[in-house]
Amino acid sequence: MFEKIVIANRGEIALRIQRACRELGIKTVAVHSEADRNLKHVILADESVCIGPAPSTDSYLNIPALISAAEVTDSEAIHPGYGFLSENADFAERVEQSGFVFIGPCPESIRTMGDKVEAIKAMIKAGVPTVPGSNGALGDDPDENMRIGREIGYPVIVKASGGGGGRGMRVVHSEAALLNAISLTKTEAGAAFGNDEVYMEKYLETPRHVEIQVIADEHGNAVHLGERDCSMQRRHQKVVEEAPAPGITDEVRNFIGSRCAEACRQIGYRGAGTFEFLYENGEFYFIEMNTRLQVEHPVTEFITGVDLVREQLRVAAGLPLSFTQTDIKISGHAIECRINAENSKTFMPSPGPIETYHAPGGPGVRVDSHIYSGYTVPPYYDSMIGKLITYGNTRDIAIARMDTALNEMVIGGIKTNIDLQKDIISDNAFKAGGTNIHYLEKKLGL
Ligand code: ADP
Repeated sequence: MFEKIVIANRGEIALRIQRACRELGIKTVAVHSEADRNLKHVILADESVCIGPAPSTDSYLNIPALISAAEVTDSEAIHPGYGFLSENADFAERVEQSGFVFIGPCPESIRTMGDKVEAIKAMIKAGVPTVPGSNGALGDDPDENMRIGREIGYPVIVKASGGGGGRGMRVVHSEAALLNAISLTKTEAGAAFGNDEVYMEKYLETPRHVEIQVIADEHGNAVHLGERDCSMQRRHQKVVEEAPAPGITDEVRNFIGSRCAEACRQIGYRGAGTFEFLYENGEFYFIEMNTRLQVEHPVTEFITGVDLVREQLRVAAGLPLSFTQTDIKISGHAIECRINAENSKTFMPSPGPIETYHAPGGPGVRVDSHIYSGYTVPPYYDSMIGKLITYGNTRDIAIARMDTALNEMVIGGIKTNIDLQKDIISDNAFKAGGTNIHYLEKKLGL
């Protein structure tokens, strides 16, 4: 196991990684921007290094500064967390070339999965169900593109191969609009992602977002840890996540999960990863793979008893997975509410000093957050300031505990989305389970 690692992230996930390191006896180096000196994990770290000014381009995205932080502290590995450089293949490569371990997949895996056309090809090969579509980049022949559109059937969605963060895609409702949509998406993709390759797939109108968690080691073992439902979204941002997904049977879970584990073996995947699917009328359609730890990993930890960060550290150190597929038993139900520093109605970010903070507690309650009374939320980064996760033997108990926990939670001085979360948790359709990805925006009247 490593003796010392650099945590190349901030906020709740940096603290989460630090906690896992503590359990394993690994020393932590916190790297932080000038605006983040008071982050909880920075204060608690064995060592800390300031890597630059507040804007993330000058600090958390500054590759040379991160590598030199690893060098000066004599660290062995770098954990990228999520966001920032976590899915940047060039960063992973630079880390390895500098003689450190990147706690994540190898650069080639990140590169393949970051190219959506390549990712879809790999999935088809592994028997993972994909969205009916062009199954490759679109060429320049208008007649051929119209033929593909007709064959898929409208509506279709034109997507950039290099797209991400919900950008670089366009829904097309009729053939008359297709060619123009392709050329617009191509131009935008070229400018935004430096890659103008686009592809086409069937636009699913009322899907749910269901994703499969996997973890693999470098000895050929790959295990799936069941699914999460992340359909409660606003502007493609997840707001509430849960596991298991309502209505998914053991048989369906094992079918889709084992396909994902097989895909990991085929591409030689190492580390934690997530296969994202749209789920409609009982069918799964792969949309993309995230080659990193996800925000919502705690719901999976609750229902499987697996510590995903601990396991990430183990496999990065070259150890085999500490369990096999048959050891994984899904039990109970977990829900996560993201707590954001923002206005509950307008969604305007609300940075500033936290004057009072009371964390909820009790059976089946987990709070992953870096905030404390007197901490000031800086305006430079994502507005998520924590995650509230509850567990119960049944979904109803998990919901009841979430309701209680949200009512116990007090964050004074800044605005938060706690009221919105209370509304969602007490919503009848949410309680029934299985709402689709458009539900929250419709409820909000957007
Ligand atoms: P990104 O990498 O930008 O997040 P994704 O491929 O994951 O791109 O798609 C983001 C979101 O766009 C999905 O969660 C879904 O809401 C919508 N979307 C993508 N593909 C389709 C599709 N074929 N049909 C319907 N919605 C889609």
